[in-house]
Amino acid sequence: MKESKKCPKCNKGSVYFINNIPEMGDYMTVNELKLGLKKEFWFGRDGGVLCAYVCSECGYTEFYLKNPKELLEANSDQVKKWS
Ligand SMILES: [Zn+2]
Repeated sequence: MKESKKCPKCNKGSVYFINNIPEMGDYMTVNELKLGLKKEFWFGRDGGVLCAYVCSECGYTEFYLKNPKELLEANSDQVKKWS
């Protein structure tokens, strides 16, 4: 979807890019949706900011990290590298 701008599930809809995905935080705050890699209370809030591509027809959604290299290198003890 990111490259093709076509939906791989239905191949019908328009693809929309969502750059900032809001997520409700504590005390009525709104944060960016993140992929967290730590279970610790304070550091669990640190994570990679996500963006998304959404199909207007079927709703299929793909999420992408905006900063994958930085997040994975900073949390190398939490992830497994396949290649
Ligand atoms: Zn679709």
